[in-house]
Amino acid sequence: MPRFDEARATVLSHVSTVGIERLPILEAAGRVLAEDVTAPWDLPRVTNSAMDGYALRAADCARPVTLPIEGFIPAGALGTSLKAGTAAKIMTGAPLPEGADTVVPVEDVTETEDGVCFPGGIKAGAHVRMRGEDVQVGECVLSRGTLLRSAEIGMLASFGKIFVSVYRRPRVAILATGDELIEPGECLAEGKIINSNTLTLAAAIKELGAEPTLLGIARDTPECTREKVLEGLKADVLITSAGVSAGDRDFVRSVLNELGAKTLFCRVDIKPGRPTTFAIHGRTPIFCLPGNPVSTLVTFEELARPALLKMMGHQRVIKPLIEATLLTDLTKKRLGVLNFQRVSVEVRDGRFLARCSGDQNTGIMKTMLQADALALLPENLDSFKAGDTVHIHLLGDNLEMVSC
Ligand code: AMP
Ligand code: MG
Repeated sequence: MPRFDEARATVLSHVSTVGIERLPILEAAGRVLAEDVTAPWDLPRVTNSAMDGYALRAADCARPVTLPIEGFIPAGALGTSLKAGTAAKIMTGAPLPEGADTVVPVEDVTETEDGVCFPGGIKAGAHVRMRGEDVQVGECVLSRGTLLRSAEIGMLASFGKIFVSVYRRPRVAILATGDELIEPGECLAEGKIINSNTLTLAAAIKELGAEPTLLGIARDTPECTREKVLEGLKADVLITSAGVSAGDRDFVRSVLNELGAKTLFCRVDIKPGRPTTFAIHGRTPIFCLPGNPVSTLVTFEELARPALLKMMGHQRVIKPLIEATLLTDLTKKRLGVLNFQRVSVEVRDGRFLARCSGDQNTGIMKTMLQADALALLPENLDSFKAGDTVHIHLLGDNLEMVSC
């Protein structure tokens, strides 16, 4: 049975991107760039003023001096020039007139009837943005694999890009299994359980930017499971929940075998999530997650999420391990395995502090609601007391959600 890091490495080595599409740049925000982008021109395109002020030659202002004003250069002006011994009023972003080398901000001068008084000792080149000082023509300014955040979208826009190539979002089919399940909104007869896993997974998949497809529920028969799995294999990824333990009605693994899927592991040395199974059918990765809602979500977060991120072209797919100091004891549920425990986290004086979010039983979903992170309690340690340091994986993307 693989350890957690071995299982995650196996998963990551069996998944890859699922194609490229060209999108309008605003739609590409949050996606991963699938091409190298080189600068078609210098940025800035022309040498220009960084301030509202006066353009002049620094050599004319070695000492305090009053210069006559000749000309006004607004942003967008073209083809201006400056005579020696004069200054021109210039606005931020306006091209520096030929002959000028320096700008003196308006707040550093005194405007009089005879002209403008400049202090001495003006540094040549001050408050001037040189052509190409930001980016030079031909420079690779964004490389394949870059996450397109607002700054990257702005850079693409600066180069007049309207469309850009990004990695396609994988379509992720979600299949719940179980005779006891009904869908939310259906009549809740005695003995039935609402299928919450499908929507939990769909929300998690959407949150990270992939595309969920809901397959509904496979009843606990080999035929029904086979039919739904075959449908799911048309997607880029298939995720199933439940039916993957050793129960008499657990058919997911046997159906996968029968359909020719290659099982890479059928158990992981973790709690919760020990029965988690990972297989490949053709190029389609299949995650079979245990059915208890907490186990489903924890194994999705820890094993499926990094894979989906990799399939979307992301370079950083593994959450960093953050050190947190425990404010409460944590009791390990099972010795000798890696145990993921739900903790709530606060940040105080720049340090992460974690407390147990409550009952850690896999049947208790409420403590997942109160959790900001999963604490990873390693195989070789059993005692976790208040004051000890543990490693945590923050849940979701929003660091702002952790209370300060
Ligand atoms: P299983 O792996 O089939 O033994 O299921 C484990 C537990 O998870 C059982 O208590 C199920 O009723 C529950 N469960 C399975 N699938 C779902 C689901 N889609 N939504 C909510 N609970 C589920
Ligand atoms: Mg079941």
